[in-house]
Amino acid sequence: MSLIPIVYYSHHPALHKVAEPVTEFNEALAKLVQDMYETMYHADGCGLAAPQIGIAKRIAVIDISEEKDKPFCIINPEIIERSGEKMMSAGCLSVPGTYTTAPRSTYVKVRAQDETGKFFEIEGHDLLAHCLQHEIDHLYGKLNIDYLSSLKKNISLKKMEKFLKRTKGK
Ligand SMILES: [Zn+2]
Repeated sequence: MSLIPIVYYSHHPALHKVAEPVTEFNEALAKLVQDMYETMYHADGCGLAAPQIGIAKRIAVIDISEEKDKPFCIINPEIIERSGEKMMSAGCLSVPGTYTTAPRSTYVKVRAQDETGKFFEIEGHDLLAHCLQHEIDHLYGKLNIDYLSSLKKNISLKKMEKFLKRTKGK
């Protein structure tokens, strides 16, 4: 397995466009998913979408368990049911150094494929629902801070750039 560098808001075009569906479920995809798990754990995140490592494909990995031992991947995911609404706060590995709130459903049901191409459904409430929506948004080129007004968004981006300067080379 290997770590893949995470890209930051406005630093890479893949982050801001609609990702392509995955059509080939092969060894290269399985390896990419493993690398995404490793990259997510290394960055101490609970989710990572392929556009965040510069790959505009509909792949995301998630692990919200405390022991960080229950990872799963969602490929070509679609939200097929949702309910409830709440403003939820989150950080994003592509906008480090900031937390922002966005309107989220408190329940979602998602249909996706695993790394072998098999279809499955997953239901999530609260944190898991939030995480699923956040990662699936990435596959549409949408980030948490895109829900903010342009004024608030600029403040968040300035915070991010400061954070990146501070942590550069670490
Ligand atoms: Zn994110």
